[in-house]
Parts: sequence; structure tokens; C-alpha cells
Amino acid sequence: MPKLDEEYEDLRKTAESFARDVVAPVIGDLYERGEFPYDIVRRMAGMGLFGLPIPEEYGGMGGDGFALCLVLEELARVDSSVAITLEAAVSLGAMPIYRFGTAEQRARWLPRLASGEMLGAFGLTEPGGGSDVPGGMRTTAVLDGDEWVINGSKAFITNSGTDITGVVAVAAITGHREGGGGGAARENGRRPEISTILVPAGTPGLTVSEKYSKVGWSCSDTRELSFTDCRVPAGNLLGERGRGYAQFLQTLDEGRVAIAALSTGLAQGCVDESLRHVRERRAFGHPIGHYQAIQFKIADMEVRTHTARLAYYHAAERMLAGEPFKKEAAIAKLVAGDAAMDNARDATQIFGGYGFMNEYPVGRFYRDAKILEIGEGTSEVQRMLIGRELGLSDL
Ligand SMILES: Cc1cc2nc3c(=O)[nH]c(=O)nc-3n(C[C@H](O)[C@H](O)[C@H](O)COP(=O)(O)OP(=O)(O)OC[C@H]3O[C@@H](n4cnc5c(N)ncnc54)[C@H](O)[C@@H]3O)c2cc1C
Repeated sequence: MPKLDEEYEDLRKTAESFARDVVAPVIGDLYERGEFPYDIVRRMAGMGLFGLPIPEEYGGMGGDGFALCLVLEELARVDSSVAITLEAAVSLGAMPIYRFGTAEQRARWLPRLASGEMLGAFGLTEPGGGSDVPGGMRTTAVLDGDEWVINGSKAFITNSGTDITGVVAVAAITGHREGGGGGAARENGRRPEISTILVPAGTPGLTVSEKYSKVGWSCSDTRELSFTDCRVPAGNLLGERGRGYAQFLQTLDEGRVAIAALSTGLAQGCVDESLRHVRERRAFGHPIGHYQAIQFKIADMEVRTHTARLAYYHAAERMLAGEPFKKEAAIAKLVAGDAAMDNARDATQIFGGYGFMNEYPVGRFYRDAKILEIGEGTSEVQRMLIGRELGLSDL
């Protein structure tokens, strides 16, 4: 395991204490009620966490993507709804504007996103498909004079309907071009041209649905968005026209490292809770941790967590060094998602009946783990990406 330098270690410890002292005491009740954790978000904003990897000139902390990962891991050790709210706001909301936005777009949006005064969201998935983009994409944006007119809908968009949501980056088909690819979204033999358009919250023609009732991540905000002749200025095009596909591929590669960190945190939280429980809970005259069957379960949980952490540290290292990291990001997301899911199952088993009770964190971990094999690219999609990176798609 690479040793964290002093600055990273200080940040990790700060996040650890915040999760333990601020999040842990209240999150169980909020989760039961499915309430968005506004107060926790306000306090994270006060700590500068929403601006961690954003340069200081835009009001950020001037850190990097690995710093964000360390914080996500510590938050998810205690609760994943809070962690995903931060992850989506930074990796999916703010970073595309920083990476691809014009000087004007950066100046307009980044200071308020970095301060946590507002949250950003990223609308890629549609009701017709999330894995097959652009094949499943139907949302269109047509230039009419100096305005884009957007029609279509987006499914499962995190942070898109909170009281402090400020902007959604929407991927849309803005035309068709010669060339291969595009699947079912091809028109007259031409592939779709995809662009990203920034839609401020409250724009007429944008309808935000009620939040979904979810299996897990109950405190996070996830909604369907629909666009009916939704008009925004032509200047809201993020970066260049036709670059949407490349933009979201890069956004998702970085996001996968962050989700791998979050998954590692959940896996670690399962180890933490289990270690506590097996010392206290007694059966047949001993603490249950006395029995080798339980010890082996915890050893396996520790192995998975350690492996997941190594995988995301490695992907993050390549990402920060500017080296190709697509394969490593997919491996980290896959390994860490599996670790979270397997550890949540084992921790719940170790807790027996209490593991099935909502008042114990492991019950929450169990409900929160499954999405880690689905969101920001399913486990099958990660395997497809790894196979592609190994040259198997050319066969
Ligand atoms: C809580 C939550 C939050 C989310 N937040 C966001 C967000 O902020 N922004 C956003 O844009 N999206 C978001 N998503 C969407 C998420 O990224 C998608 O759900 C995910 O990418 C899968 O897409 P899908 O649901 O359309 O499943 P599908 O693409 O329909 O896939 C269904 C199944 O088929 C499998 N499959 C598909 N193609 C293949 C293939 N070629 N080979 C083998 N198996 C295949 C998949 O792996 C999966 O198991 C969120 C989802 C959830 C549940």
C-alpha cells in the first residue's frame, strides 16, 4: 500500500472524524425517512469538500482526484448516500465544466459549485438505456437561432432535484454525421453527433420528477428529468459541439475511480462493524469471533477491501500522472464493487438477525452495496471495457 503523504493523510483523518462525529449520529434516521442530508451537505461545503479537485482561482481547494477519493472512502465507511452526493456533485457535476467548459462557463458556474452553494448533476442515462450510449439515446437538442431547444428525458439523475441543484449537464443528439458507430441512434446510415448542454435548474420546459423510491442510497437525490421544448442560450453548449461522447467517456473514467474509492469505503465499513460485533456478541460460551468460520469470513472481507484499495490507488496514480488509466479504472470499479457487495452480504450474516434491522449500519450497507455493481457503468460494462483495452473487440 503506498504511504499517504502528510497532506493526504491529514485530509483523510479530517474526513474520518467528520464521518464518525457528524454523519454517523444522524444518518440512520435520515435514511429511514429518505431525507436529503442538507445539514451534512452544508457542513461538507463549509469544509471545502465540493471544491477539492478544483483550482483555487475558481474557489476550489486546488487538490486532485485522489484527494477526493480519500474523502469518499472515509465517508462511505459510514454512509454511502452522503458519499455519492459528494461524488456526483464533484465528479459528474463540477468536473465536466472545469475540464471542458469555456472560460465564461467556468467563471459562471465553478465558484458556486466548488463552494457547495449549489450542486451540479450529469444527465447521460435515458429511460431507453444507460449501458448502450448512444444506441439508447433519444434526447435531442436543435439549434434555433441563438437557442438550443431540448426534447427528451433522462433517467436516474443524481442530485438533479434538490433545493440547491443549480445546473444539469445534459448529453443530447445535436445532429448526425458520416461514419461508423451509434447503434440504434443512427439515422439514414449516419451516426449521431452528441453534445453536452448546460441546463440551469428552473429552466422552463425542464420537468423534474418526484424522487424515485430506491432500494438503497435513500438519502441521495435521484430523479427523472424530462425536457419539452426546453430552451437555453446557444452559449450553454459545453465546450465544442459534437464532443459530448468524448466528454462523457472521460468523465466516466474519472468517476469510476471515485466510485471504486466509495465502494472500498463501504467494504471497509463492513469490516469495521463486523470486528466490533464479533468481540461483543457471544454464542456457545464464546464471543462469536472465537469461531474460525467467523474469522475466515472477516479475513476474506479484509482481503477484498485491501485489494480494492490497491486497485483504486493504482488507477488514481495513473490518472494523476496523465497516463492511460481506462483499464485500471474499470478494474478498480469492478473489484471494489464486488468487494462492497460481498462484504455487505458477509457482514449482514455476521450480525445475524440484527443485520436485518435498519438501525444497524450493516443493514444500510447491504441495501447500498448493490448499486455499486450498476451505477457509472455496470460490472458487465467494466468487463467489456477491460476486454476492449486488451484488444478483444477487434477480433
Ligand atoms: C441510484 C442511481 C443513480 C444514478 N445516477 C446517474 C447519474 O447521475 N447520471 C446518469 O447519467 N446516470 C445515472 N444512473 C444510471 C446508471 O449509470 C445506469 O443505470 C447504468 O449505467 C445501467 O444502465 P441501465 O440502467 O439503462 O441498464 P441497461 O443498460 O439496460 O442494462 C441492463 C443489464 O444488461 C447488461 N448489459 C447491457 N449491455 C450488455 C452487453 N453488451 N453485454 C452484456 N451485458 C449487457 C447490463 O450490464 C445490465 O446488467 C444512476 C442509476 C442509479 C440506479
